[in-house]
Amino acid sequence: MGRLGAHVSSAGGVSKAWPRAAEIGCDAIQLFVKNASTWRAKPLAAGEVTAFRAARDATPGHGTPAPMPAVAHASYLINLASPVEENLARSRAALADELLRCSELGVDALVVHPGAHMGEGDAVGLAAIARSLDAVFADHPDITTRLLLENTAGQGTVLGSTPAHLDAILAAVDERQRLGVCLDTCHAFAAGVDLRADDGYDAFLEAIDGAVGLARVEAWHLNDSKGPLGSHKDRHASIGQGELGVAPFERLLGDERFAEIAMILETPLGDDGQGHARDLVTLRGLTPRPASEGS
Ligand SMILES: [Zn+2]
Ligand SMILES: [Zn+2]
Repeated sequence: MGRLGAHVSSAGGVSKAWPRAAEIGCDAIQLFVKNASTWRAKPLAAGEVTAFRAARDATPGHGTPAPMPAVAHASYLINLASPVEENLARSRAALADELLRCSELGVDALVVHPGAHMGEGDAVGLAAIARSLDAVFADHPDITTRLLLENTAGQGTVLGSTPAHLDAILAAVDERQRLGVCLDTCHAFAAGVDLRADDGYDAFLEAIDGAVGLARVEAWHLNDSKGPLGSHKDRHASIGQGELGVAPFERLLGDERFAEIAMILETPLGDDGQGHARDLVTLRGLTPRPASEGS
């Protein structure tokens, strides 16, 4: 079983995320290292960095010792494929800023959506993303946090919905050793991958292995899907309450290849704010199912 966790609020300061993660039973954490819906943010105060690192060291997981694996999610405003010069420059600067914040905090990895081509076409957009990553990496050899490209639902002109897209970006980046991927179950399903069926699950991971290599899968996002298969809608549902059901999660929890990897919930919090706590209980109550014979 992977390291189960959730995206937790960093309201009031990033260090506040740790007690929240512990309270709901996390063994891994995801957070925003700045307000995800604004471009600019004040630099992290030295005290906040110290407090974050101390809280991480002092906060054991639900069933694992401290420190928990920690990933951050980048701002949704960032578009590394933007054909608009000003927006592209802002996106690159924002990504660099987030990676530097993560490095200061000691966050293991930052998850980013690859980008949207805005009408320029897949090939142009994928090449633009690679150039953006080259620029950020070349300017900041000091960044220690890994960057994970997340697979997407493929809504509109959004790139990154297929293993081939992720491969095209990775193959075109100079310092690709600094990159990994984060796989989101809802996004894969919405993009047309039927993870409910054993052969769909196996075929998807074979395709990921053939494209970027399974060793690059450094995090999972565990989300059920409100939208049906192939809907290209990025709408997360609570575990077992959406179109995916529990079958893909039983497979993932039984998949030894991901036993040490952060598996993060980004499911609805619900009216009482306890959605992640409930989903962690649901996941831990499932029977992990290893690959069936011959698959
Ligand atoms: Zn995401
Ligand atoms: Zn996600």
